[in-house]
Amino acid sequence: MKAVLTAIALAAAVGVGAQAQQQDFSKVEIKTTKVAGNVYMLEGSGGAIGVLPGPDGVFMVDTEFAPLGDKIVAAIKAISDGRIRYLVNTHVHPDHIGGNENIGRLGATIFAREALRTRMLKPAAQANGQPGVAAAAVAVPTVTYDAPLTFHVNGEDVRLIPVPLAHTDGDTMVYFPNANVIMTGDFYRSIGYPNIDRANGGTMNGMLAGFDAIAALARADTRIVPGHGAVVDKTAVAAHKAMMLAVRDKVAALVRQNKTQDEVIAARPTAEFDATVTGATAATADRFVGQLYQELKK
Ligand SMILES: [Zn+2]
Repeated sequence: MKAVLTAIALAAAVGVGAQAQQQDFSKVEIKTTKVAGNVYMLEGSGGAIGVLPGPDGVFMVDTEFAPLGDKIVAAIKAISDGRIRYLVNTHVHPDHIGGNENIGRLGATIFAREALRTRMLKPAAQANGQPGVAAAAVAVPTVTYDAPLTFHVNGEDVRLIPVPLAHTDGDTMVYFPNANVIMTGDFYRSIGYPNIDRANGGTMNGMLAGFDAIAALARADTRIVPGHGAVVDKTAVAAHKAMMLAVRDKVAALVRQNKTQDEVIAARPTAEFDATVTGATAATADRFVGQLYQELKK
């Protein structure tokens, strides 16, 4: 049973990587959207990229997958002079940091939480059981922080806000107060069920605290850019939190009845939300329920 659970945890952790290997990146096009003020969102394949262009040089959030590097740089050049000065990573997953090496080679300084840097240097085992491969030095953040950090750049006071032990143990939320935009990384997503990456230090309570941090920071008209899914406002985040609490309570009741993980998943504790959660799939529902079970069983 332990071996099975380890395999499930590994599959959850490397899921994005496996998906990346199957994908034909030559078909991907980068879509650029002005979110608000001078903040842009770039979408290709993987997590949302943020770009704040201006005379001080480009401030950038996340890099998607490595094979998209040239297309991403071309998209940034279309809205800036192309000098990428600062890069921030919201968390360690390959669909958010895969392009770091490319951006690092262009001379950008990379910022992230200390735990993210550590995981890039000593990654978890691969799906086939082989040891993880450390990232190239040029891809690894050179400046780390575990308290809020502010960038005064291009007329903004961009705040990097650590979100402890949420989607992973190295999450950062990025707030552009003048543009009135928040980028959350993957601790909040507006498509599919939540993903608590326990193998990379994520926790249920950390994600719930992250939703509260969004509620405290955002105004009614703040645009919230999730790691995955459409741009939303804070009411969507509040609904997402209510859903997570309701599913948590159902899973907790089943855990108290000594149900196994398979039995809890089979009981479909997400059923009442499958019609309202955008992009809900059985795969993300089962993964989410399994992660809640693992946390609540302890
Ligand atoms: Zn992620």
